Amino acid sequence: MTSKLATLANQTPTVKMLLDGKFIESQTSEWQDVVNPATQEVLAQVPFATDDEINAAVASASKAYKTWKNTPLATRARIMLKLQALVREHMSSIAHTLSAEQGKTLADAEGDVFRGLEVVEHACSIGTLQLGEFAENVAGGVDTYTLRQPIGVCGGISPFNFPAMIPLWMFPMAIVCGNTFVLKPSEQDPLTPMLLAELALQAGVPPGVLNIIHGGKRAVDAICTHPDIVAVSFVGSTAVGTHVYNLASQHGKRVQCMMGAKNHAVVMPDANKEQSLNALVGSTFGAAGQRCMATSVTVLVGDAQKWIPDIVAKAKTLKVNAGVEKGADLGPVVSKNAKNRVLGLVEDGIKEGAKLELDGRGIKVPGYEKGNFIGPTIFSGVTPEMKIYTTEIFGPVMVIVGVNTLNEAITLINNNPFGNGTGIFTQSGAAARKFQSEIDVGQVGINVPIPVPVPSFSFTGSRGSKLGDLGPYGKQAVQFYTQTKTITSRWFDDSSTSTGVNTTISLK
Ligand code: NAD
Repeated sequence: MTSKLATLANQTPTVKMLLDGKFIESQTSEWQDVVNPATQEVLAQVPFATDDEINAAVASASKAYKTWKNTPLATRARIMLKLQALVREHMSSIAHTLSAEQGKTLADAEGDVFRGLEVVEHACSIGTLQLGEFAENVAGGVDTYTLRQPIGVCGGISPFNFPAMIPLWMFPMAIVCGNTFVLKPSEQDPLTPMLLAELALQAGVPPGVLNIIHGGKRAVDAICTHPDIVAVSFVGSTAVGTHVYNLASQHGKRVQCMMGAKNHAVVMPDANKEQSLNALVGSTFGAAGQRCMATSVTVLVGDAQKWIPDIVAKAKTLKVNAGVEKGADLGPVVSKNAKNRVLGLVEDGIKEGAKLELDGRGIKVPGYEKGNFIGPTIFSGVTPEMKIYTTEIFGPVMVIVGVNTLNEAITLINNNPFGNGTGIFTQSGAAARKFQSEIDVGQVGINVPIPVPVPSFSFTGSRGSKLGDLGPYGKQAVQFYTQTKTITSRWFDDSSTSTGVNTTISLK
C-alpha cells in the first residue's frame, strides 16, 4: 500500500486530511508530533485543522449525502465486502504502523485491526440489518410498515488506544446505512486511521462519503456544534465524553459516548486457578493496561486471596519490550505524559498504604532506553477510598481487593460508578448465574477476561461508562445511524365503498 504521507526531502512527513475524496495538506499553523512511544522517534506531524477545513469536510459530507443516501443497499454492501478484503490483505502493514505509533505488540496490533475488521464483515449484511417491518390489515384495508432511513452527516471522535478498531466501529456502520461521515481520530496516532481511509477509497467509497480531519478540542467542539451534523459517536475518556455528550445534545444531535472504566474481575476460590490467573494477568497487563475493557481491579474472594504470590509470579514472566520485538508481551504506554500520570498514581497508592507487591517503575528495556515503559505493577490491600481504586489508571497496574463473599464482591462492583465490563472466574454455575443476574455492569464475562461482544451483538457498556442509549456496532449501531419512518397506508380503487366521514381518531 502506498502511504499518502508526503515525505519531502529531509522533512518530517505530514499527515493529510481526507476532504472530498482527496488527501489534502492542511494550511494550519498548528502541528503536533506523532511519536513512536518505544523510541521517541517523530514519525510524522499531524495538523490541527483550521475552521475552514473543518467546514469544508462537513460541506463535502453534506453534498455527498444527497446522492449516497439513495445508493442501493447492494452497492453499499459490495463496497464493504471490498473493504473487508482490503483490510484483511493489508492487516500486517496496518499492524506495523499501528504498533509504531501506539506502542502495542504486533500481535495485539493485528488484534486491534481484526476486531475492527469484524465490524466491516458485519456491515456487509446491511441488506438484512436495515430491513423495516410490515403489518398487513392493521385496520380494514390498512397496512403499516416502517422504513429504516439514513439520518445525514454523522461525526466520529475516536481515542488513541484502538486506532484501527474504533474508527472501524464508526465509519463503516454509519456509511453502510446511507449516511456520510466526518471522522476526527486521536491526534496521538492518526496514521492508522489514514491507512484505513486509503483502503476505504480503494474499496469504492465515493468522494465526500468519508472525510477525515485532525485536531483536538477545537475540532471536537466544531463537530459537536456544526448545524449540518446530525449525530456524534464518541469513544474516549469520561471527562471528554461528558463534555461531548452535553455539547452535542444541546445542539440537537443524536449522541453516543463510550467512556472510561474500572473493570473488576472476581476470582472465586473454586475457579480453575491456572486458567483464571493466566486470563487475569493477560487482561490486566496486555496493551500495557490501555484498554477500556482491561481488568483493572482483581477481587479475590475468600481463599483465593492466597493466590497473590502466584499472580505476582505470573506477572514477572511477562516480557516488556518495544511492540515490534519478538516475544514482547507488553509495550510502552502511549506518551511521556501518560507514563508520568501512571507513575503519579503508583506513588499515590504507596502513600495511601496499599501494599506494592510488584514494582514496575524504573524498568529499563535494552535498546529502547527512551521508551515510555512501565513494567507490570501490582498492589494488594487496596480499599475503595484509595485513588488507585477510584481512578482509571490506564497503565499496567493491577489493584487487588480482598473480600470474603460473592455478595461483598457484587456490592463493591455495583457501588463503583463505572459499568463497562466485569467478569467472574468460577466453576460454579450457581455463582456465575447469581453474578450475571445481580451485577449492574453492561458487559459480563464468565471465565472470559475481556468480554467485548462480537459485532452481531453490540458494545453495551453501562452506567458511568456510557452516555446515550445506543452502543456502537451491531444491531444498536443500525438503530443509531438510521431513523424509523412509519407509514400507514390504505388504497382505494374505483369499486371501493365509501365509509363516510370519520371524525374520530380510530382507524376503521
Ligand atoms: P480522550 O478522551 O483524551 O480523547 C478522545 C478524543 O477526544 C480524542 O480524539 C481527542 O483528540 C479528543 N479530546 C481530547 N481532549 C479533549 C477536550 N478537552 N475536548 C474535546 N476533545 C478532546 O481519550 P484517550 O486518552 O484518547 O483514550 C483513552 C480513554 O478512552 C480511556 O478513558 C478509555 O477507557 C476510553 N475508552 C473507552 C472505550 C469504551 O468503549 N468505553 C473504548 C476505548 C477507550
